[in-house]
Amino acid sequence: MAGLRITNCHVHCFTSRHVPSLFPHPLLWPFVKIPYLVRLLAFLFRLIGQHPLAATLDRLFRFQQEASEIRQERILAKLVPQYPPGTRFVLLPMDLRSTGIGRIAAGLPAQHDELARLAASPAFKNRALPFATLDPREPGAVDEARRAIEDLGFHGLKLYPRLGYPPDHEALMRDVYPLLVERNLPVMTHCSRGGVSGRGVSSARGDRYCSPGALVPVLQEFPTLRVCLAHFGGETDWRSYVEEGTPPDMQVDLADPACNWQVAIRHMITCGQFPGIWTDISYTLFHFEDYAPFLKVFLENETLAARVLFGSDYYMTRQKALSERAVCIRLRVMLGEERFRRIAETNPEIWLGERPAPG
Ligand SMILES: [Zn+2]
Repeated sequence: MAGLRITNCHVHCFTSRHVPSLFPHPLLWPFVKIPYLVRLLAFLFRLIGQHPLAATLDRLFRFQQEASEIRQERILAKLVPQYPPGTRFVLLPMDLRSTGIGRIAAGLPAQHDELARLAASPAFKNRALPFATLDPREPGAVDEARRAIEDLGFHGLKLYPRLGYPPDHEALMRDVYPLLVERNLPVMTHCSRGGVSGRGVSSARGDRYCSPGALVPVLQEFPTLRVCLAHFGGETDWRSYVEEGTPPDMQVDLADPACNWQVAIRHMITCGQFPGIWTDISYTLFHFEDYAPFLKVFLENETLAARVLFGSDYYMTRQKALSERAVCIRLRVMLGEERFRRIAETNPEIWLGERPAPG
């Protein structure tokens, strides 16, 4: 289709230098340090005939190869050929200090600086859109986020509350959200169950901080702030929605983190009380066959169609069977050009504050 400019709103390119040395878990450390152990294991599984696990291990190896790149630019360079020329990528850093699982070779300011250099380089100019990140509990966190936004010209803020802070943490409410509102910049926040959490943070507490309801105080105090709940609530809640269904008399209780997050997000978008809420389809929709038909039906709702963003969660998707290109084109065919353009071009530009919302 002529003139389509895709913006992939959810991409990671941080490297092993930006994550703690024992990431993702001390027990997996030998596999991280010696990725060929994964290869060997895959080979052994093939020998004894357990093919599905062997394929999973192959994908884990691919993922590790990605993370072990020394420069973020190299990771991004592998993603670019999967998309049409001119596609833009929102780059989301991570500050994993509070996981407490080892030393980080290049701290957050270095990670931000590298993203700024990458975005200014001829290969990625106007195509790489870096976001700042912060853990509001870390000393100097607000100043570093401000530096990335004001001095480096970053395009928004990424939050990962599972590390152990609520999205209405006082430093965010007092210093950070007002800055974003003033500069018309958006927030991307992790919204799926499970995943890495901070040291001493139980999975239940991490889930509570990431739940859609945790954003209510933020959306109420800053109604013009655009907040994207990443992953459309996540795979677990999509699976339970698809396989177990939902009770006919189900009420969405945003105060209850156990309520289905996919349903909660659709409710928050369509109820009209939260004009600032958005969601992206990253990672979750890589279970393409299972979930894409549901997405297509959901997007028949005009209000919802105006708040869904295309994103992939590269390079987390390297653990999936389908490539980015394969998912992207399947999605485009299934949704049709008009709906695909909406989530991949129009909506991202509105969310990023580059064009006004219609109406
Ligand atoms: Zn992500």
